[in-house]
Amino acid sequence: MLKINLVRSADCNEEILSDVYNLLKGFQGPIVFKEHSEFVHILGKEPSPESLEKMVEYCSLEPPSRMARESINFHDRFKKRNTVSWEQIFKACAKFRFSNDIGDDEFVILLTTYNNKLNWFSASNPEGPRDHFVHTEDWDFFLGSDRRFPIAYQIASGILKKLVFTNYEDLGAHWHHDPRGCMLDFCQEKAQVTFKMRTGDICPDCLKLFSSRGVPSMVMEQVFRIIDGIRLQMIYKNRFVINREVPAMLIEGRQKNIIFPDMGNLMVRLNPLEKTLYLFFLNRNEGVQISHLSDYRDEIFAIYSSISNSDSQLAQSIRINDLVNPLSNSVSEKISRIKRKFVDALGDDIAANFIISGENAAPRRIPADRSLIRYID
Ligand SMILES: [Zn+2]
Repeated sequence: MLKINLVRSADCNEEILSDVYNLLKGFQGPIVFKEHSEFVHILGKEPSPESLEKMVEYCSLEPPSRMARESINFHDRFKKRNTVSWEQIFKACAKFRFSNDIGDDEFVILLTTYNNKLNWFSASNPEGPRDHFVHTEDWDFFLGSDRRFPIAYQIASGILKKLVFTNYEDLGAHWHHDPRGCMLDFCQEKAQVTFKMRTGDICPDCLKLFSSRGVPSMVMEQVFRIIDGIRLQMIYKNRFVINREVPAMLIEGRQKNIIFPDMGNLMVRLNPLEKTLYLFFLNRNEGVQISHLSDYRDEIFAIYSSISNSDSQLAQSIRINDLVNPLSNSVSEKISRIKRKFVDALGDDIAANFIISGENAAPRRIPADRSLIRYID
């Protein structure tokens, strides 16, 4: 087994790490990925993303206080101006290895938003340890959640390169400076990476080289499967225009996470109230008018209390009463927020099947064919 520890630096959002992990864990084999919930500090003084999120959430509820406003501005400024050295990045990896007692044979992959001084998209530690960083930003070619594709590609190819090549000189001698659509094409622009991702190929020269270097064939095979899988999932949205094949949706676990396995285990993240509303409409195939929601108050409350355990019964009850109150705007707002999240993740065409649809006084319903939806524990 080859263990790959995925971790992020404090500046990097936990959602991107978890999206990438969900994508990679779909490919089984000797390479086993582990997602770490803790984060490392490259500079040692960044505000944590969690504290920032709380601040943003707070500001959306209340008029922002001066302190909160300054903290957000501080975070943005902080993020933009930071360029760090490879030494700083790999020092953070070493610290993480030490505090988590990670063996030398395991990989540590660090996701970071910070620019690095040499401006590489991803790189492994030239000093030898199996540390690797991937830059998570400026993949502008990829929209929203699709950024997980190039990041996962950099991880998979980074692992293989580390196993094949002894050092940067060795690697440098084998880069293809003329693009062949191979993993070893040398790309100077992030957009060029899409070419090799779309071919998902390894050229015959590299195949020969890789197998001559004694990398276990099962490991190589898994990397190839990941790269090929990324290629197929990347073009899923494009193919949909022609084949109209609506992806299956999985509702997973007690948290009832909404996942699309055919799209690389893509997760659509709804907060507990949005998820409650969504699951309710999913149960009600025939649809329900917004003004009638209060008739279903107990059913909606039961869904909410099954997925949210952080609040008292009373607090949960107040939230649901507000949600179903025909005089409040709460439901309409939530329906449009849910719609936005699905569109961002799936694109307009595919999302149209899964959003809560309907106009004005007409019943709202989710059009998706219910046979595409599976619930698993
Ligand atoms: Zn090649």
